Amino acid sequence: MLSFDLTDEQRLLEQSIREWAGREVAPRIRELDRAHTFDRGILPQMASLGLLGVSVPTEYGGAGMDYICLGLASEELEYVDTSLRVILSVHVGLNSLTLLAWGTEDQKQRYLVPQAQGTKIATYGLTEPSAGSDARGIQTVAIKRGDRYEVTGEKMWISLADVADNFLVFAWSDLQKKQQRDPSGMSAFIVERSFLVFYDTAPTEKWGILAGNTGHFKMDAVEVPAENLVGREGEGFKIAMFALDQGRYTVAAGATGLIRACRDASVNYARQRKTFGVEIGSHQLVKELLAQMESDYQASRLLWQRAGWLKNEGRRNTRETGLAKWFSTVASERAAGDAVQIHGANGYSDEYPVGRFYRNCKGAVIYEGTREIHKIMQADYLLGYRTDRPTRCELPAWETR
Ligand SMILES: Cc1cc2nc3c(=O)[nH]c(=O)nc-3n(C[C@H](O)[C@H](O)[C@H](O)COP(=O)(O)OP(=O)(O)OC[C@H]3O[C@@H](n4cnc5c(N)ncnc54)[C@H](O)[C@@H]3O)c2cc1C
Repeated sequence: MLSFDLTDEQRLLEQSIREWAGREVAPRIRELDRAHTFDRGILPQMASLGLLGVSVPTEYGGAGMDYICLGLASEELEYVDTSLRVILSVHVGLNSLTLLAWGTEDQKQRYLVPQAQGTKIATYGLTEPSAGSDARGIQTVAIKRGDRYEVTGEKMWISLADVADNFLVFAWSDLQKKQQRDPSGMSAFIVERSFLVFYDTAPTEKWGILAGNTGHFKMDAVEVPAENLVGREGEGFKIAMFALDQGRYTVAAGATGLIRACRDASVNYARQRKTFGVEIGSHQLVKELLAQMESDYQASRLLWQRAGWLKNEGRRNTRETGLAKWFSTVASERAAGDAVQIHGANGYSDEYPVGRFYRNCKGAVIYEGTREIHKIMQADYLLGYRTDRPTRCELPAWETR
């Protein structure tokens, strides 16, 4: 049976985040953004709402909510600011849900439980100076020495890099396969901040998501215990892609929230601002922009909810999640540009939020698969050049776990 009604739990979560973010973050977000400041105090508040373990089962310290709740949380957080949703994307989507599916019981106890409870913060380290879209181009290597790996390499553009306790790091563990660019030579590791012997704390200079934290770090023969290998040796690339299925889902739902924020701010402004003796909302060309925002919002919401439904069912959703991420992020760029346009010169000032939305939306068109990579993926599915083969570990269905 198909239902578009939210359950009581889903509605309650949506309402609690809306109230919390509206009360605690919205009044301060412009100042945080202007000051390029990530407020760490937000993390314990998110933890107390259960958000840092939102779709992690209660047996692992999480809130045990379904994957639709993860989407709703992403949408509500990004309605206020993208930096809030990014926390959920890396901590829950890319890292914790990956440990839930691929981690050993010991890793779940040592890392997933404190992450779900919010006492430890986690992120995801794939990107390097020489490789973003081309993940096989990473240069980081992990050399096995007895019961440890020595990891050497550099990661950049890492969200929460200056805040995270645990990093899910990808490296080549087979140097011959590295030369052949054979992804079965890549492995995934949990690297604790305390393992990092060299750490460069200068945050990345960005022009968007200014209330968020993005950084980089170098690893010079960092010792990682063998028990911190996630999955088996050689499964790192699959794990990196699996993680993106969860991260992209939060990005899709978040971009949907940003479209809604653009729509609401624009409707509000269009009812107040007058030109030629009438509200600008009366002009047909302004109506066109608002109508486009509404259709983009509704379509984006349906797309991420379909992906969330597939996750709840325990069904593969790489294709559907990718489509949702691609569509909604591109639509959010359109909505933010049009929201600035509707606000005229005021949209170009910091006094109104739409300029911040405009700066924030662009990142999501780049990270977790650029617009171009997603276009290619969708075309390849159509052409039969791409099919999703089963992986050894899958995200557990919500009902059955
Ligand atoms: C705010 C922010 C936060 C981020 N957080 C993280 C994080 O937490 N962890 C992490 O690992 N990474 C993170 N990233 C990095 C992000 O995932 C990469 O930037 C992204 O994968 C793109 O890689 P790139 O920047 O190297 O661009 P490139 O891969 O160099 O691409 C450059 C351009 O070429 C195009 N292009 C590349 N290949 C093709 C092709 N085959 N066909 C057509 N066009 C192509 C791209 O679409 C793009 O337009 C973050 C980035 C940003 C901006």
